[in-house]
Amino acid sequence: MATMRVVQVSTPNGPLELVERERPEPGPDTVRVAVDACGVCHSDSLTRMAAYPGIKLPRVPGHEVIGRVDAVGPSVEGWAVGQRVGVGWHGGYCSRCDPCRHGQFFACVTGPPVTGIAHDGGYGEYMIAPITSLARVPDALSATDAAPLMCAGVTTFNALRNSGARSGDLVAVHGLGGLGHLGVQFAAKMGFHTVAVARGADKAALATSLGADRYIDSTAEDPAAALAAMGGARIVLATITDNAAMSAMVGGLGIGGSLMVLGAPFEPLAVSALALIGARRSVQGWYSGMSIDSEETLAFSVRTGVRSMNEVLPLAQAAEGYDRMMSGKARFRVVLKMAR
Ligand SMILES: [Zn+2]
Ligand SMILES: [Zn+2]
Repeated sequence: MATMRVVQVSTPNGPLELVERERPEPGPDTVRVAVDACGVCHSDSLTRMAAYPGIKLPRVPGHEVIGRVDAVGPSVEGWAVGQRVGVGWHGGYCSRCDPCRHGQFFACVTGPPVTGIAHDGGYGEYMIAPITSLARVPDALSATDAAPLMCAGVTTFNALRNSGARSGDLVAVHGLGGLGHLGVQFAAKMGFHTVAVARGADKAALATSLGADRYIDSTAEDPAAALAAMGGARIVLATITDNAAMSAMVGGLGIGGSLMVLGAPFEPLAVSALALIGARRSVQGWYSGMSIDSEETLAFSVRTGVRSMNEVLPLAQAAEGYDRMMSGKARFRVVLKMAR
């Protein structure tokens, strides 16, 4: 019997256990992916805590997957053994439900089809992936470089390119962690007037090296007032998880500006209705993206040199990597690399 090592969660908030399992065979419309690397994302906590609606344990987390097609299911066309592929948060779609029939495949309600939640993800040597979740991966990116782009990357890239901001507009990226350090790079490469906002004077040099035109230390000055003094931001890309600090950024938006919410605070946002009405400001959320969005994120990153800064660990140290990510100390993403 062919086996594989995976890291699974078997009880809510229980340990991340390294176990040996039988290597699964792909069914219709799926492939088996030999995983080369998988990023560790804050949303993996939804698997760890069994907090996502409908999740069943045991489950293998991981939705920043880079690997190679290892076997194809019956009737699969267009994907070949050996081809490099990536799998992100979006774990496929059915094409039959009402959102799919509206072309809103990301909102497919069958499943819900989230990688590492509805089906096992990439914390393992192999996984089964629906072909509707597969992105092509360029040779120019190593597996560990590409992995974080499958969630943190596509989330920031896709939010910015769908934000309505135009080249030259003032775009503030709030937070300089796993999402924010990519958001600043993408915003700068897209030609926005890019401002990074984070806590502490020590991050100024980092922000500049990532391409920010200006850095605002929120412990030294009020970031909303600073943005307002610059004319107001067209977009604040909110990547932090502090609800009060996120809410306060609405005051830094210009006319028609939008707070794009990517980070997920546990507590609700509190926003002044007058602040929204007076300048036609808005608050909107953004999900990550479809497989084609991931593919375009990878291609853009190759072309422009955008890269995630990663701490790489072997699969056996998944629990340590997860704790490091949750502690907020990782600089900036944690990536698990499979030994082959
Ligand atoms: Zn994620
Ligand atoms: Zn659907």
